[in-house]
Amino acid sequence: MSTQKGFTTQILHGDRWFGTEHSAVHKPIHTSSQYSYNDAADLVAVFQGKPGYSYARQGTPTTSALEDKLTHMEAGRASLTFATGMAALAAVFTTLLKSGDHIVASQFVFGNTNSLFGTLTRLGIEVSLVDATDVMAVKQAVRPETKLVFVETVANPGTQVADLEAIGAFCNEHKLIYLVDNTLTSPWLFRPKDVGATFSMNSLSKHIGGHAHALGGSLTDTGLFDWSDFENIVDTYRFGNPTSWGLTQVKKKALRDMGASLAAEPAHRLAVGAETLSLRLDRACDNALKVAQFLDQHPGVAHVAYPGLPHHPQHDRAKKLFKGRFSTLVAATLKEDIDCIAFLNQLKIVILATHVGDTRTLALPAAKTIYHEMGPALRQQMGIGENLIRFSIGIEESEDLIADLSQAFVAMQAH
Ligand SMILES: *Cc1c(COP(=O)(O)O)cnc(C)c1O
Repeated sequence: MSTQKGFTTQILHGDRWFGTEHSAVHKPIHTSSQYSYNDAADLVAVFQGKPGYSYARQGTPTTSALEDKLTHMEAGRASLTFATGMAALAAVFTTLLKSGDHIVASQFVFGNTNSLFGTLTRLGIEVSLVDATDVMAVKQAVRPETKLVFVETVANPGTQVADLEAIGAFCNEHKLIYLVDNTLTSPWLFRPKDVGATFSMNSLSKHIGGHAHALGGSLTDTGLFDWSDFENIVDTYRFGNPTSWGLTQVKKKALRDMGASLAAEPAHRLAVGAETLSLRLDRACDNALKVAQFLDQHPGVAHVAYPGLPHHPQHDRAKKLFKGRFSTLVAATLKEDIDCIAFLNQLKIVILATHVGDTRTLALPAAKTIYHEMGPALRQQMGIGENLIRFSIGIEESEDLIADLSQAFVAMQAH
């Protein structure tokens, strides 16, 4: 039985449908670093491109089982997994681009991704940062050397929603690689393939794994990009179906040569987490909307950025693209007379921690932590206020979250 079923049914039963081992309902954790063959010709065949395993740096049956789930979730052609989300992003940029190439990227991106752009610039790959909430900004930044456009679905932490559909149409028209970081929405809310993306990247450490107990990243090839005319594919990987060349090069040049591979133990944890993605995310999104509405009307708050609020600049776009849900990130800027550090110290349920997409609600002072290194000028350009608190809303009872925030505001007044 292997016909496509619903999103969650397929995740739950996929391991069995792809081939049972000892009747186990989960794919076992394969810890072997090497895979042996009785006939040397079979070993040779795997080295020459036949599907199979040789050395675990290029994958194991456990990572393959997770990759199959991700491919299904994204309705893609094939997926690769990496040790972290950053490894997945670095893999694309460093193996498909070369010195002299140019990237157009959203200026509203995860801080570490922004730092990675600095590394790429030093390697001779130029990056133009634009306001990707409007396709016009992307169009204006494109040059003859542009090879790739990068956006996040919902930006961390400002919650800007990129002009995903129009940018996709533009990239397809101009044969540009369109890389979408789907971490904040996950394939449960949004499939980048639907807007013409070449790759959907996910940090599995966030919603997909969901329990903050394993790191991982993935890259799903949607199969939409024809690599025949893409000059950076080396001759060795120009064989077979041209829609598969890009991912083959990423697999060989990044997983094999750079080695940021996902180990079997976290792959298993992430696969188990994925089983409840739809349930957790629906609940957390419901909670996030309630928390955002509470903060939005609270006198201690200057501004709330959450795509589910009608005054969010891309509210209608988010509503249309993300199945009527708006993800779990709520960015609240407190009024100037409330010290955000003192406020955070009053919280009793909400955990003071970085990270997003956990089952637990987390909060951190964004400007002073994850965005500290980039300095005030870039922070201002990215719309990150100095008193901004980034909440990642979890699956607790929403009344408990709102009561916790309420008592923290009350405690601040008493000071
Ligand atoms: C966390 C995150 C990443 C990086 O993922 P890691 O697994 O932590 O390396 C990339 N993009 C976004 C939007 C993220 O939130």
